[in-house]
Amino acid sequence: MRVHRLLGCAALLAAFGMAFAGPAQAQGQVQNQAPGDTFTLKLPAGESAAASAQTGTVQFIGTATVLIRYRGLTIMTDPNFLHKGDHVHLGYGLTSQRQTNPAIDFDKLPPIDLVILSHMHDDHFDKLVQERLNRNTPIVSTREATEKLKRLGFQQRFALSEWDRLEVTKGDTRLRVTSVPGRHGAAGVAVLLPKVMGSVLDFGPTPDTPDYRMYISGDTLVYDDIHNIPQRFPGIDLALLHLGGTRILGVFKVTMDGKDGVQMMQIVKPKKTIPIHYNDYDVFKSPLADFAREVKAAGLEESVVYLAHGDTYTFTPRQR
Ligand SMILES: [Zn+2]
Repeated sequence: MRVHRLLGCAALLAAFGMAFAGPAQAQGQVQNQAPGDTFTLKLPAGESAAASAQTGTVQFIGTATVLIRYRGLTIMTDPNFLHKGDHVHLGYGLTSQRQTNPAIDFDKLPPIDLVILSHMHDDHFDKLVQERLNRNTPIVSTREATEKLKRLGFQQRFALSEWDRLEVTKGDTRLRVTSVPGRHGAAGVAVLLPKVMGSVLDFGPTPDTPDYRMYISGDTLVYDDIHNIPQRFPGIDLALLHLGGTRILGVFKVTMDGKDGVQMMQIVKPKKTIPIHYNDYDVFKSPLADFAREVKAAGLEESVVYLAHGDTYTFTPRQR
């Protein structure tokens, strides 16, 4: 991490200090049981061959970028297509340098039906993507992020608050995306960083009894509200966990490290877990090896799938 201006650094430290000194954030309260609002996205039907595929895939591109393919739908998460050596801005004059390349270049992407954006940070929606992504690409994210997307000229924005959902149809293919809790750091630190949404993807014609259920953590730590996710969404088939143990100013942890990742698995109880968002930036301080060690210690090796950049995991939804 490079600090542009000493002044910016001092201001940030002061801000963090004030945040910590502030009143304790309410935690562990009885959660609002309201189901949330429902939005809809109807896409033109795709090719019939892809729409009848019996399996789906998750391809890891790098950072938190994955391509999810399911019965003719192509979903992209947190698009980051910068290259090794490029810098991203994280606010407050802080930057971070990319250490890896994406598995495919932006120009080689297939047509994208939907982008799921966990939050607006440059390592999740970078400058290249901000300039070049088609303005008609549907994007679902937090309200805060969609306001910036509006300023950037994106036309199809879906702003979800916690537990709101987006019902997607493409021909006979159905997907429901629900916004679930995520928080970018401890309560005092998170107020200074972008709002984050985790997401649950329910695939299949009856989303309440999905053929496949996927959880994407977003950049979050493990905190009380995370327990509400498996309560509302039991039987998660696959979890994509944003790890990296990201440290701001080398001090404040704002994403899960290896230990947190295992704790998350123990709470959410996914059948399979794929770690993402590690080793790609110099602010990511917890390497994948940390997670692998903790997974082994917890006896969870059987349930973890490690994908290198470019690798694809194939999943089989339940048949009807
Ligand atoms: Zn991140």
